[in-house]
Amino acid sequence: MSIGTVHDAEPATLASNEARVRGLLDREWRLLVDGRRVGAASGKTFPVTSPYTEEVIAHVPDASAEDVDRAIAGAARAFPAWARTTPGERAKALFALADEIERRAQDFAVLDAIDGGAPVGIMLLDVKIALDSLRYFAGLAMETKGYTVPASTNLHFTELQPYGVVGKIIPFNHPFMFAASKIAAPLAAGNTVVLKPAEATPLSALLLADLVQEILPPGVVQVVVGDGPEAPQAIVRSRLVRRIGFTGSEQVGRFIQRSAAEVAVKHVTLELGGKNALIAFPDASPQKVARAAIQGMNFTWSGQSCGSTSRLLVHDDIADEVLAAVAAQLAGRRFVSPLDPEAVQGTMVNKRQYDRVLGYLAGAVDSGARVVTGGGRPASVDKGLFVAPTFLDRVSPEWPVANEEIFGPVVSVIRWTDEEDAVRIANSVDYGLTGSVFTNDISTAHRVARALETGFVWINGAGPHFQGVPYGGWKNSGVGREESLEELLSYTQSKSVTVML
Ligand code: NAD
Repeated sequence: MSIGTVHDAEPATLASNEARVRGLLDREWRLLVDGRRVGAASGKTFPVTSPYTEEVIAHVPDASAEDVDRAIAGAARAFPAWARTTPGERAKALFALADEIERRAQDFAVLDAIDGGAPVGIMLLDVKIALDSLRYFAGLAMETKGYTVPASTNLHFTELQPYGVVGKIIPFNHPFMFAASKIAAPLAAGNTVVLKPAEATPLSALLLADLVQEILPPGVVQVVVGDGPEAPQAIVRSRLVRRIGFTGSEQVGRFIQRSAAEVAVKHVTLELGGKNALIAFPDASPQKVARAAIQGMNFTWSGQSCGSTSRLLVHDDIADEVLAAVAAQLAGRRFVSPLDPEAVQGTMVNKRQYDRVLGYLAGAVDSGARVVTGGGRPASVDKGLFVAPTFLDRVSPEWPVANEEIFGPVVSVIRWTDEEDAVRIANSVDYGLTGSVFTNDISTAHRVARALETGFVWINGAGPHFQGVPYGGWKNSGVGREESLEELLSYTQSKSVTVML
């Protein structure tokens, strides 16, 4: 039985999803502060817009620093009791939260589809990933353990303790998945959390607050949203928040490192952007490379995924065949409402991102790139901020389109003939998140995987994450590893204790 239909008698349709959204939007949106649902103290709200209809669909509280400070103080008050619970008790609470999320899965998926613009079917998979994550970290909670050290005839041991209040600031591209999964490790480790979703996509996190309020002790999780940097900066700059987990752009990540350091010494982990290379060798199957290049670019989310393989470094011998296969596989793609269960590709999140992507495309074409597929707004579309899945051939590695994170459905194709050149080009960007190698030669595969300056590599694949396998970046793609035991442990601090015998 699939997620989200567990309690639904009928499979979802466009009409049933639209009706569900109407029902969910008919409410007053509230922050979760100190166990209570409240508006911003100022009474201010800001509008949330659908990138499909380009209409305002909700008004949500515009939290100020004052609201955030109240949330942080509440999380600090809730901390000692939560930290005193056993890992088993915390796991039980997280399992209960996951069960309730599973029951409401379709609600979260339609909210993500309406404010973020990604297809509802895929957003349902995001809910499933969040459930896996919550249950994974619930099961791991007992691993927050120390060890003994035979350093002398005395007794030496370490123990791992939570930090206290953790600030979690998340981006727009997987709104619910990040909201639910990124609170799991800090909570399992005994911290309390202040969660700040992105301005463009706050609705599913605010609905999650309903379940949090029902299931977790008051104050253990606080949810605040605000338009602009004031609210997240209040988290970053609070002396009560010693541990910050950020997922978002490199620019904001660096700003957070800087502003946190102005206040105190803090443990900041950063999951940032990427400009990831898929390197295809001449012995690889052109059809398989084409399929992986499409999957790895995450066109489903219009390329708005950090790990997307947005540079296709393909050997000249197979390049024409790969690109012909890409064009054939992408032909006939339809662009429909993100609430349609048949939707396969979503919109850009907002007009700013849409214009930005079109700007990169125009720049690349002016410089001489050849458009293999896409290249702009799909001809068939009369509504929605869609950009067609685009492959640009004959791109030079120095161009902005091949160096900067576009965060749109655009793959830059760079042809090569020499392995060393291919690896050099792959590593020439400042990012280092993911990489992919396609070859049937085991030595080549491992040699190139090892040479890539990235935190995550696929061999003969691109795209999927696996719970338990550490995920995170090198270079400007970030600091820290998530989706794994490392993530759980990063929300603890080690204390060494010596008992003089
Ligand atoms: P963003 O950096 O613009 O915003 C992310 C979050 O930071 C939002 O909640 C935003 O409100 C907040 N923020 C904005 N200004 C801030 C400030 N001055 N201080 C503190 N917080 C601030 O990113 P986005 O546009 O929402 O998301 C796209 C980016 O996220 C891309 O670069 C993408 O690669 C990255 N990303 C990385 C990963 C990963 O795991 N490495 C995953 C998803 C997205």
